[in-house]
Amino acid sequence: MAKVVKFGGSSLADAQQFEKVKSIITADGARRFVVPSAPGKRYSGDTKVTDMLYNCYDLAVKGKDFSKEFEKIKERYNSIISELGLEISLDEEFDVVKACFIGKAGRDYAASRGEYLNGIVLANYLGFSFIDAADVIFFNDAGQFDPKKTRKVLSERLESLENAVIPGFYGSMPNDTIKTFSRGGSDITGSIVAAAVGADIYENWTDVSGFLTCDPRIVDDPEPIKVITYKELRELSYMGATVLHEDAIFPVRKAGIPINIKNTNKPDDAGTMIVESTSQKPAYTITGIAGKKGFTVVNIEKDMMNAEVGFGRKVLEVFEKNGICFEHMPSGIDTMSVVVHQAEFAPKEQEILSGLHRNCQPDVIDIETDLALIAVVGRAMKSNRGTAGRIFSALAHAHVNVKMIDQGSSELNIIIGVSEDDFEKAMKAIYDIFVSTKL
Ligand code: ADP
Ligand code: ASP
Ligand code: MG
Repeated sequence: MAKVVKFGGSSLADAQQFEKVKSIITADGARRFVVPSAPGKRYSGDTKVTDMLYNCYDLAVKGKDFSKEFEKIKERYNSIISELGLEISLDEEFDVVKACFIGKAGRDYAASRGEYLNGIVLANYLGFSFIDAADVIFFNDAGQFDPKKTRKVLSERLESLENAVIPGFYGSMPNDTIKTFSRGGSDITGSIVAAAVGADIYENWTDVSGFLTCDPRIVDDPEPIKVITYKELRELSYMGATVLHEDAIFPVRKAGIPINIKNTNKPDDAGTMIVESTSQKPAYTITGIAGKKGFTVVNIEKDMMNAEVGFGRKVLEVFEKNGICFEHMPSGIDTMSVVVHQAEFAPKEQEILSGLHRNCQPDVIDIETDLALIAVVGRAMKSNRGTAGRIFSALAHAHVNVKMIDQGSSELNIIIGVSEDDFEKAMKAIYDIFVSTKL
């Protein structure tokens, strides 16, 4: 029996958190493979070590003095080491990192040291073997994760070990330089390790008691979800429920390994089980709500658009040529709307507008900015009549104007576009109508 356990930054933010982590691991002998993040925030307003490293490296690259900032990073680790009474010293490691910063070893290298150093400390504290992720997690020349090579090397390496600590977030390129996943990527490492050892379960330990029905920064104390499917989770994490990196499900999903989101600060809470499929009915019609700000809608109008073969292709071609992905594309008889990320669209705006005029000869193009998208997700929505009606009446009661609606063909989600100013109000209204009223 093997369990892979990943601990996020807040779970390893200081010595006290390390103690909780150790008691969780020693409570179950199957918890053999541990994937740590870098030390995170100890209190709100604190800075994650990863961010400290990025800042420090940016100074180094500009040729500025970064010793003061570097000392603060050292202090984070040294206080953990001394408060835990460990006998190791990271001084030599710190010297190497500092020299590599001066030698401009790369931003990914810099960020990865957060996990690397934390892994050394945690392995020493637990008495587990330490494995540098650079030796077992691989990326190809294009910077994409290389699952084949990783799986072979990683599973061979872990096979002979009773237990090990493998730092999250990074791996190496064919030329031996360090490459990281995107932010929050230790979740992906945990999933890769779980697949490589054929784990019975991948436990992802964080600072909330599971995947919650709504963002806890918007709704106070939202209820945790007991069981969620990979598909539902992907919809929610893509739309901003960042508790688990959206790419973390692929490796375990292929191997049929469930993920359990657990709370390091409340280890007895059941947390959330993430599974392929389930006969368990969700507690409510909806499984969860998530949302993000920062979208723009490009509305294109043209009389008789529907009769023009290839119109949609011509529109999308313009976005494609400018390297812009679209999120949604609701359409009417004579209108088509393309929803895009504002930050990607804004710098290319004029090229896209002139491209659309040239390619499609529209009557009117109108752009609406500062839109928020909300995804209402649930496997039970399909079999419950009136779900959309309830969402819209809740929003109408809350005086929220709905600017866009899109229902996925799987009936797993309904996406709603509202003005950014209405975002929090809309999220709360939807949460209340489904979860607070227990319907
Ligand atoms: P870790 O450092 O453990 O990886 P993260 O900060 O990446 O933790 O993810 C946990 C955080 O995700 C929570 O503290 C919470 O603020 C946020 N979050 C956003 N949406 C949700 C949600 N639907 N359920 C749970 N947490 C959420
Ligand atoms: N430490 C990295 C970050 O802050 C990776 C992670 O925490 O998963 O993004
Ligand atoms: Mg995270």
